[in-house]
Amino acid sequence: MITVRFAPSPTGYMHIGNLRTALLNYLFALSAHRQTGEAFSFVLRMDDTDTERSKPEYEQAVYEDMRWLGIPWDRLEHQSGRLARYHEVLEELKQRGLVYACYETAEELEYKRRRQRARGLPPVYDRAGLRLTAEERAKLESEGRRPHYRFMLEHRETSWDDIVRGRCSYNGAHLSDPIIVREDGTFPYMLPSVIDDMDFGITHIIRGEDHVTNTAVQIQMFEVLGGKVPVFGHPPLLTGREGKLSKRVGSLSSRELREQGIEPMTIASLLARLGTSEPVIACQTWEELAQHFDLTRFGRAQPHFDTDDLFKLNPRVVRSMPLDQVNARLKERGEKEISEAFWETISPNINKITDIAQWERICFSDETFSLTEEDRNFCRQTVDLLPNGTFDHETFGVWTGIVKEKTGRKGRELFHPIRLALTGCEQGPELKMLLPVLGREKTIMRLQG
Ligand code: GLU
Repeated sequence: MITVRFAPSPTGYMHIGNLRTALLNYLFALSAHRQTGEAFSFVLRMDDTDTERSKPEYEQAVYEDMRWLGIPWDRLEHQSGRLARYHEVLEELKQRGLVYACYETAEELEYKRRRQRARGLPPVYDRAGLRLTAEERAKLESEGRRPHYRFMLEHRETSWDDIVRGRCSYNGAHLSDPIIVREDGTFPYMLPSVIDDMDFGITHIIRGEDHVTNTAVQIQMFEVLGGKVPVFGHPPLLTGREGKLSKRVGSLSSRELREQGIEPMTIASLLARLGTSEPVIACQTWEELAQHFDLTRFGRAQPHFDTDDLFKLNPRVVRSMPLDQVNARLKERGEKEISEAFWETISPNINKITDIAQWERICFSDETFSLTEEDRNFCRQTVDLLPNGTFDHETFGVWTGIVKEKTGRKGRELFHPIRLALTGCEQGPELKMLLPVLGREKTIMRLQG
């Protein structure tokens, strides 16, 4: 069974980079499921140990965004609720001598790093804490210093086969022993994440390449704790106009995209392909996307994300949306459902769901539209030429055929005044489609003016 997870820190609104991580995990699991029939599970984990920056409203926004995107989760966990478990593991690591106390302040550590860099050395922690005697520690504590704790890495190669990056290898000697408990007793992300991934049986971790070095550290933690090391995949981060996107950069939040009428499937269709050399396909469902999804096709180069690409792709997604989906979307927005005939008529002219309202007003209101006197006279003349019977898709052709014959007008001269009279717009849906939607009464009313 495949178990993936999405682990946002609810310290801000999600933007496209976070959504991408969520959707790559989901698509990965879905496509594996399609190929092998294996069941999968999606864990949503709130990395909310940073109590100062984590906010309930950001957490709610994560749920809202996930629901909107259409990514369901099978299990929800909060790191803030698992502190007892983290302490239990910490105790075990302490007892096994794999954790040691350090007393440097942030400034002292920064000073050490600067000196190392100045001497051309990598800024790796020198393990000074490990060499402190019990007396020295007691003295530091009597001076009011509180310890933070580091996990002792083994100085050996740690390697894994990354789904995106291929074989990766890091030597523990070139990495700083990570701080796993801060001076104030809180846990940074590193160890809790491993404990959770282990406890929740995570089999595959797909996350941005900013976590690659964390992976080397975390694999050592998995090994020490006797957990099964998951499979990792680190797609490169997106770049945007503002450089690398992170949740702390003020790029468009998913909420803003939603408000601007971007469909979740537009985002999913673009992000499922951005970073591969394959063309973007406008898909309507996750199943369809999963059919074409392959994480191994993602390259090492950082793909460029441009919000405009979403706006360009959105019409392709919206126009091919089946009616029930369109109606579901309208319902979400508190708007009325529409008919098949109406959707068929207007969909080629729609760029986003919110454009529907304009055509509803045009098609169903009692408005008439102003015309020049000449156009109005012409339109009035055409009323008597309307064929009898219920309007269908043939009506317009028959009618304008007669009008042409009787008035000698053709082309734009014939069609443009009619379009203006019927819609008040220079452009829009095909008139032969529009006529049955308007019906005889409204057509006549608008031609008469
Ligand atoms: N909370 C971490 C982040 O948002 C999760 C990293 C991970 O997926 O392990 O970057």
